[in-house]
Amino acid sequence: MTTCPNCSAKCNPLKFLQVTKWTPYVCPSCSARSDFPLKQSIILGLAAGLLLGIFSYLLAKFIGGFSVIIAVILVITIIPLIQYYFMYLEKVDDS
Ligand SMILES: [Zn+2]
Repeated sequence: MTTCPNCSAKCNPLKFLQVTKWTPYVCPSCSARSDFPLKQSIILGLAAGLLLGIFSYLLAKFIGGFSVIIAVILVITIIPLIQYYFMYLEKVDDS
């Protein structure tokens, strides 16, 4: 599970949805700023694209219309869970 690199408090996966290259994760316990390493973000991006493709294909087969919208919602729900269980945060340099 992803924890704060500064105080080891458990992270809130919902907050990962707001984390981008420009807005780091802010720990609710100690206010330290941290970010996912670039390599992990790239792998996550590829995994998200792959999942989106698979879900769109499967949903289109079984339910037809709106499959892409549902696939996008599923992937957006799954991404923070992947980040929470498989990724780790690194401290952001304030310099
Ligand atoms: Zn912290």
